[in-house]
Amino acid sequence: MEKNYFNIAVVFTLRCSVKCPHCGFSCSPQGGQDVTVDMVKRFCMETYEYARANSRCLGVNLTGGEPFVRYSELLELAEWLNRVDQGIMLSCVTNGYWASSVSRAKDLLGPLRRAGCMNIGISIDDYHLQEVGLGRVRNAVKALIELDMSVGFKFCQMNNMRSLFECLKEVGDPFLEKSDFRFVVHSFNCLPVGRARGLSKEHFRYLPLSSLGNCALGRFTLIPDGRLLVCCGSFDFAPTLVLGEYPRETVEGLIAAFNKNDLFNLLRARGPAYFAPFLDDAGYTVSTKSYTHICDLCHCVFRDVSTDLRKAKIIAQATKDWKHGEVNNTKVISLLESFMGVEENA
Ligand code: SF4
Ligand code: SF4
Repeated sequence: MEKNYFNIAVVFTLRCSVKCPHCGFSCSPQGGQDVTVDMVKRFCMETYEYARANSRCLGVNLTGGEPFVRYSELLELAEWLNRVDQGIMLSCVTNGYWASSVSRAKDLLGPLRRAGCMNIGISIDDYHLQEVGLGRVRNAVKALIELDMSVGFKFCQMNNMRSLFECLKEVGDPFLEKSDFRFVVHSFNCLPVGRARGLSKEHFRYLPLSSLGNCALGRFTLIPDGRLLVCCGSFDFAPTLVLGEYPRETVEGLIAAFNKNDLFNLLRARGPAYFAPFLDDAGYTVSTKSYTHICDLCHCVFRDVSTDLRKAKIIAQATKDWKHGEVNNTKVISLLESFMGVEENA
């Protein structure tokens, strides 16, 4: 039976070995905050207890920046999580810079694998390949295959880059032909946030509002300064999407606040597009614009709400009306149910 995971993400560091032009977090070797290992352990333990109390398993994704710049702490964390419960599913996203040779890559990946970290995401778009070097990324993939670990290729789409197929072929040949090579591909359009804001508009791939996909709200993301975000897409822009501060508030308290929050419930049910007609009517251009990603639309909706009180009021009123409609719907459903119950019992 498929396990039911409660997934969280931890931005382990905002430092990186390279400086990609399209980095949404503006990471670089010049610096960036780390989250302490003690804080991650405490956060994971509280979340693990919450997940268990709700009959779920815990999934932890370590991301960045580049988590391997803190390799010994990364390994310490993986071993600790494995001691807590071997059923915790740990994954990690990297650019593969550390794979100077296949044997070096295996030296680093082997201990992680033994500590239960079986899934590694590797970025393979042109900007990453140029910054890190094709050879290193290939070494990392080869080592992952030899260690029988799962590979998740991460591909950020832009008009000025080669296609997913071309990059995958360049990185993956000849591994792709191996019938037992397990990999998944996560391809997404680049968001114009962080350092990517400085790139030419023509480089981005825009989509109409109706094709933006689903909102991934609910994948809580801890960032190094202790803020807990309601998703992994909101780092750069929206104070509205900050759930609270950890460890000032407990995980249980933060999740309870999330579940009670009308705006988050609305976003979960309808996504940020729900607000588009209300904002259009008030003169904000939302529906007629194109967006690269649903989180880009979200950015447009929530950008400036802390300074634009008029916009904040429109969003608050639309949320209130939605909640009212939901309550009324629930009343109608329970009336219908009780009516049907009467009919059945008659
Ligand atoms: S490898 Fe990833 S985290 Fe590092 S600079 Fe590039 S996009 Fe940013
Ligand atoms: S659409 Fe908004 S709330 Fe949903 S995942 Fe993206 S940034 Fe988060």
